[in-house]
Amino acid sequence: MTRVQLPLRSQAENGAQLCFRCGLCCDGSVFDRTPLSTEEVERAQTYGLEVMTVIGVDGSQASSAQQPCPLYRDGRCSTHGDWRPAACSAYACRLLDSYLVGERSLDACLDVILTMRETVKEVAAQSLRDDAADSRQTPESLLARAALQRLEHKYFIRGGRPSA
Ligand code: SF4
Ligand code: SF4
Repeated sequence: MTRVQLPLRSQAENGAQLCFRCGLCCDGSVFDRTPLSTEEVERAQTYGLEVMTVIGVDGSQASSAQQPCPLYRDGRCSTHGDWRPAACSAYACRLLDSYLVGERSLDACLDVILTMRETVKEVAAQSLRDDAADSRQTPESLLARAALQRLEHKYFIRGGRPSA
């Protein structure tokens, strides 16, 4: 029997296959905060998001919700599509893009996500060590942070949902 090898793009049509196994843009790994428009603040609060508003010297306001996002539960956004900040709807990371156009397989994307998770953990562990020693950042700590920045910029950070 001839086995048909589906092109990667067909296998990757549904980005949820990847996002449901990731969540890095919701759990605080990539972003500290989720930007909110002024109109979204009240609704975000009714959904239990912890909103912070910064007022600039020119009177401008910038609001955002704390991450990890409390709406991220069981590996997905628990609003089930009822509502989410526009910044969330607009966001697709570079990794997801590469998956959707068939540049990277699901397994390859999951490897990147695993590496990202391990690097986030390593940076957190190094920060605790730095704090405990009450010292400047060690070379190991600096290396871990540099590795995290490389991963963030290569695969995750892009226009649409910047850290606020
Ligand atoms: S970081 Fe990218 S792959 Fe992960 S859940 Fe967010 S959009 Fe999806
Ligand atoms: S509102 Fe939903 S999509 Fe946005 S950060 Fe929270 S869990 Fe993620």
